[in-house]
Amino acid sequence: MSPLFTNAMPEPDEATLALLERRNVSLQPGAVSVVETGTCDMLRVRLTNGRTFDVKALFVAADLHMRGTIAESLGCALQETPAGKIITTDAVKATSVAGVYAAGDNARAFGNITLVSADGVMAGLGMHQSLMFASHS
Ligand SMILES: Cc1cc2nc3c(=O)[nH]c(=O)nc-3n(C[C@H](O)[C@H](O)[C@H](O)COP(=O)(O)OP(=O)(O)OC[C@H]3O[C@@H](n4cnc5c(N)ncnc54)[C@H](O)[C@@H]3O)c2cc1C
Repeated sequence: MSPLFTNAMPEPDEATLALLERRNVSLQPGAVSVVETGTCDMLRVRLTNGRTFDVKALFVAADLHMRGTIAESLGCALQETPAGKIITTDAVKATSVAGVYAAGDNARAFGNITLVSADGVMAGLGMHQSLMFASHS
């Protein structure tokens, strides 16, 4: 069975647990304390409850963090998402501060290259619109 580490997050409901069991996945509650090098090229996941698991690979859901504080210092509204804190933007990527636009991972939860590139285009459109039609700024 493949282990699924909750890392102290809330456990799934009964239906999800049953589905995981059918897929041969065993839920391992508790926090992960460390991931170490195991034997034979395996990774050893150690939980705070003392249990250890040797696995070939580990898929991790990581949150993102903005490196800069420009948006914050300009007073742009931010929002918490499951992927981390992002800048709040509207449909044309305008932030809460007039004239400031944001595109990229810092303004989209769970982005990828295609989506954040398109957001950049949308931000450009939004800026153009705000310059051409003052009422849209
Ligand atoms: C592990 C991982 C794998 C991924 N795999 C894929 C994939 O296979 N396909 C896909 O489409 N997407 C993938 N993505 C998502 C994709 O990488 C991002 O959505 C995309 O790179 C976001 O682009 P961005 O320009 O917003 O941010 P970034 O690519 O993070 O670029 C921001 C840049 O700004 C620079 N910077 C930060 N602060 C400052 C500052 N103060 N002054 C100057 N420069 C600064 C940083 O150094 C960085 O170069 C992956 C992401 C991760 C984390």
